[in-house]
Amino acid sequence: MAFNLKSAAVQTRESRLGSITGYEGDLYDLVEQSRCGSLRNCERCFSQSSMCLSICALGQLGGIRDVAILYHAPSGCCATAAGAKVMYRQIGAVIGKEYRSNMVGTDIDESDTVFGALDTVHDIARTVVETYHPSALFIASSCVTGVIGEDIDSLAEELKEEIDIPVMSVHCEGFKSRVWASGFDISDHAVLQGIVKPPKEKRQVINFKNFFESARPEITRLFAEFGVTPQFLYVNSTVEELSHISESLATVCICGTLGTYLGNALEELYGVPYIRTVNPLGVTGYETWLREIGRVIGKSEEVEVYITRERAIYISQIEEVAKELKGLRAVIGMGPGYTYEVARVLAELGIDVVWAAAWHYDYKYDNGDVPPALEHLRNTTPNNIKLSVADQQNYEVMNILAEYKPDLYFSRHPGSTVWAIKQGVTAVYVADEYMIFGYKGTLSFAKTVLDTVRNRSFAENLAAHTQVPYTDWWYKQNHSDMLKPNPAEVR
Ligand code: SF4
Repeated sequence: MAFNLKSAAVQTRESRLGSITGYEGDLYDLVEQSRCGSLRNCERCFSQSSMCLSICALGQLGGIRDVAILYHAPSGCCATAAGAKVMYRQIGAVIGKEYRSNMVGTDIDESDTVFGALDTVHDIARTVVETYHPSALFIASSCVTGVIGEDIDSLAEELKEEIDIPVMSVHCEGFKSRVWASGFDISDHAVLQGIVKPPKEKRQVINFKNFFESARPEITRLFAEFGVTPQFLYVNSTVEELSHISESLATVCICGTLGTYLGNALEELYGVPYIRTVNPLGVTGYETWLREIGRVIGKSEEVEVYITRERAIYISQIEEVAKELKGLRAVIGMGPGYTYEVARVLAELGIDVVWAAAWHYDYKYDNGDVPPALEHLRNTTPNNIKLSVADQQNYEVMNILAEYKPDLYFSRHPGSTVWAIKQGVTAVYVADEYMIFGYKGTLSFAKTVLDTVRNRSFAENLAAHTQVPYTDWWYKQNHSDMLKPNPAEVR
């Protein structure tokens, strides 16, 4: 795909990647439809509320250590800002870095909505810069400012003339995409537009796109074995560091959904190779990922030495735990960057995935390929897997759990995990993005699963003392009846 940094806004995933939020079928069918281009989104006759893409966009930008975000929005849209600030401050403290970024909401009200408020926003921007001295300023739109057409692009251009730091407009109106991961692309677009500079030299650095970098020390040690250092994005990065990411040897990511826009754009615009293998979760994922990194940076021999050494430590231990897990039945409900990766890892551990739900599905990534984890699963799994795509429609997940009665539910979102537990289904909350990273993470994950199934008292007790709002009537319904193909949709 051609990346156009001159365009103020990045296209949504629906229009750029053909992403969908409504599907029910199976692995073979989804891959086949993706390959031949016949995949269509299905509409629901009922939907629960989901998440806003601006939280993803501004959450990513807010992780940068020295910026200001001016969010031209009603106060309610800024509800997550305080929690994010506390979290990023704590993540910075772990590595002894001071977090100085701030998000300021413009608190747009009824009068502003009728008459516009750009002059006020201009004044607020100047005050923000004078008060916090950020290294870059992002001016973000919300649903209301998008609807009334506030011209934040012109405002950003005006401010660039007045203040000596990068100023970027960020078009993150929540209504424009059902796929909240569109927010990741919006943040990448802003960083690429205003902060990343063309390369002047090559540096022995690998860009590592992730969420909260809990494995920072481990990955730093790992990359040191190959003579490179990681540049984690965006949490704990600075504007100065980001300006150089076009000079790195490669870009990798912990989640394909998170990494596709930045990774592909850096490759296309600046020739930084993007590692597009399955992700480093489980044994196969980790080794595939490492070998591709080794190939791209010319360190294949060092990678093989590392793999041989670490295999000797971990593989037999993983296999020992896997013997205890064999035959367990699982349902997965996660974002698509993890659903198919975790399904592969569970298969490695001998666990049968009876249903895998992804919160959306990218029909292709920005390089035009079917997401590699799905393609890999299709090519390696001996059994077809029932799949659905639902933007965290928990009522559907509850129906699926009631029907399939799995031994375990795996989810990466607390709002989904807790409902399964209330229903009495033992759940593993795969909260940390690095929970299954590498050999060590895979062993630890396998032990966590074993501990979880050996003691189900939490789910049993919570279910015994909770009345869920779902009735037998709903559990007897066929959840697929909620989905109808959209005949108007033509790709
Ligand atoms: S931007 Fe729109 S969808 Fe997002 S929180 Fe604000 S009003 Fe809600």
